[in-house]
Amino acid sequence: MQRFSALALIRRALDGQAGWQAQWRDAAPKPGYDAVIIGGGGHGLGTAYYLARKHGMRNIAVLEKGWIGGGNTGRNTTIIRSNYLFDESAALYDHALKLWEGLSADLNYNVMFSQRGVLMLAHNVHDEQVFRRHVHANRLNGVDNEWLTPEQAKAFCPPLNIAPGMRHAVTGGALQRRGGTARHDAVAWGYARAASALGVDIIQNCEVTGIDRDAAGRVSGVQTTRGPIATKRVGVVAAGNTSVVMAMAGLRMPLESFPLQALVSEPVKPCFPCVVMSNTIHAYISQSDKGELVIGAGTDAYISYSQRGALHISMHTLEAICELFPMFRRMRMLRNWGGIVDVTPDRSPIIAKTPVPGLYVNCGWGTGGFKATPGSADLFAHTIARDEPHPINAPFSLERFAEGRLIDEAAAAAVAH
Ligand SMILES: Cc1cc2nc3c(=O)[nH]c(=O)nc-3n(C[C@H](O)[C@H](O)[C@H](O)COP(=O)(O)OP(=O)(O)OC[C@H]3O[C@@H](n4cnc5c(N)ncnc54)[C@H](O)[C@@H]3O)c2cc1C
Repeated sequence: MQRFSALALIRRALDGQAGWQAQWRDAAPKPGYDAVIIGGGGHGLGTAYYLARKHGMRNIAVLEKGWIGGGNTGRNTTIIRSNYLFDESAALYDHALKLWEGLSADLNYNVMFSQRGVLMLAHNVHDEQVFRRHVHANRLNGVDNEWLTPEQAKAFCPPLNIAPGMRHAVTGGALQRRGGTARHDAVAWGYARAASALGVDIIQNCEVTGIDRDAAGRVSGVQTTRGPIATKRVGVVAAGNTSVVMAMAGLRMPLESFPLQALVSEPVKPCFPCVVMSNTIHAYISQSDKGELVIGAGTDAYISYSQRGALHISMHTLEAICELFPMFRRMRMLRNWGGIVDVTPDRSPIIAKTPVPGLYVNCGWGTGGFKATPGSADLFAHTIARDEPHPINAPFSLERFAEGRLIDEAAAAAVAH
């Protein structure tokens, strides 16, 4: 693999940028693999990378029906934080956050991880109580989170309107300074490049249409639009399409798929220093390195596989943004789009073995799985390689829905970005 370094940049500048190589091999499917990962998003590509790097499994394919990163990985608003309420969630998301902190160096690829701080606004007594509870719970778990008064919140984020007469007046906020954003495409590309260098085949335009099982019920291969592939281990990381893929193995998942949308403005000079979220008003915003305001909205009220959301949902979000940040009222929006998010009953993910031997599933990240990408991939690779979960993802089993051991982050954040 061609490594990025200051010296390499100078060399390429001198040879007129002619010496850059393709970042990963465009592989054709082989007849069989030791493991097949279905879904070329950040979680799937990361899983293949950690399987190869940490567990020595090199004969792996990632099958992607479109292009890598073309699912939710390339459609999200890239908020990264780990200040979740319950012990299990805090352990999971902070494992991911710690990996984010070294990811660019690990992959030798700049994922533009920026710890600019995530400020979650409170607008009423209920919000305040919930966020103060989060602050205390997080501190007990060694996760940074602090309570700010409205004035402190404004000092941290000067464009914020804290006028008391607002419809949704700001009564304070919880700040995780280690939180921030990363460049979503770069995460997919960085994992793809590093995995490919370790021998992983990344196969785009290859839709999985069936999962084969042998007479004993074990996984024996997959059917794809580019032919059958034999394998004894299949990891499904298909986000909003998970229910469809798992049904190919005869499993019904506790998931609902909803459209979730986001939008970006015209680019402007740097003016917004952090990430701000409001679960109550249902809006979240940051500024990309290109200068666009990146704004996230809520899910549609109806389940759907359409990658676009209803207009009134984004209108509601923009009204809230204009109230919270009046200086953005005259900005023009450039693009909006949707992704299909897979939502579990307790709004926590599933990273687990399944009742079908050889079949593993990583899903249910809903509106908030980008932040977990490195941690989720690392733990899923462990689960596939050892055929048992890591202690961090053991609570995120499929069985919890039958046994009543829910990890109810739904109450903690109506949306979990
Ligand atoms: C608008 C929006 C905003 C969001 N904002 C945030 C945020 O700020 N912070 C955060 O943490 N999370 C956020 N999320 C959630 C986050 O994007 C996802 O949880 C995360 O990206 C999921 O990654 P993934 O790799 O599991 O899924 P994906 O990136 O969706 O990858 C799954 C892949 O599987 C492929 N696939 C599906 N079926 C098949 C098949 N049969 N055969 C082959 N391939 C198949 C798809 O094409 C897709 O590329 C947001 C999501 C959306 C839509």
